[in-house]
Amino acid sequence: MDIIEELVEYSKLAWDRGLTESTGGNMSVRVDKNTIYITPHSSLKHFLTPKDILKITLDDKMIEGDGEPSSERKMHFLIYKERPDVNCVFHVHPTYATAFAVSGEKIPVNTLPEAALLLRDIAYLPYRMPGTQEFADVFTPELKNGKDVFILQNHGVTVIGKSIKAVYEKLETLDFVAKVVFTLKMSGAKIKEIDEREVEKFLESLKSGINS
Ligand SMILES: [Zn+2]
Repeated sequence: MDIIEELVEYSKLAWDRGLTESTGGNMSVRVDKNTIYITPHSSLKHFLTPKDILKITLDDKMIEGDGEPSSERKMHFLIYKERPDVNCVFHVHPTYATAFAVSGEKIPVNTLPEAALLLRDIAYLPYRMPGTQEFADVFTPELKNGKDVFILQNHGVTVIGKSIKAVYEKLETLDFVAKVVFTLKMSGAKIKEIDEREVEKFLESLKSGINS
C-alpha cells in the first residue's frame, strides 16, 4: 500500500467507524519538508479514492490533483511548519469526543490503561471560526509544548503524529474513552479512575520493556 492509499484507507476507516460525519473532517500526510497529500474540500470520506487526494505545498500551491483542497488546510500547514516531527494530521468530529468539546468538560483519561498511555497530554483549545487563520493560530502555543491531541471547543478534535497508523490509534482510543465515560455519566454510575501511582508504574513498565 503506498502512502496515498494508506491515507485513503484510514480516512475511510475513520468515517466508517463514526469518527467523523457527513463531509466533516480532513486528513493529510507529509510527503517531504514542504509538501503534503490532503483530502479534498467537502468530501464524504467513505467514497474517497486515491485520485481524489491532492498534493499541495505548505504555502498553498497545488502540485498534483484535480479539485479544491480542504478548507481547513491552513491548520495543516501551520502544524507541519511548527512540528518537523509530525508526518500526519487528522482533523475529525467523533461523536463522543465532540460531545466533550461541546460541554467543555475534560475527558478523564486515567480511566483506561491505553487511554492513560496514549492521551496523557490533551490540549483543550478555545473556539475559533473554522477555516480561518485564527482557527490555525490557536494551535501554536500547544504545538510548541509538544502536544499531539487537541480538543477544539464546540467543534471536534485534531490528532497529529509520526505516522497515519499512530494518529489513527490515538484518535480511536480518544473516542473510545470518551464513549465509556459518556455512557457511565448517562447511566448515573460513578467513574473510578486508576490510581495515579498505578498509571506511573504502567508507563514506567512500558518504558523499560516489561509490558511490550
Ligand atoms: Zn472540523
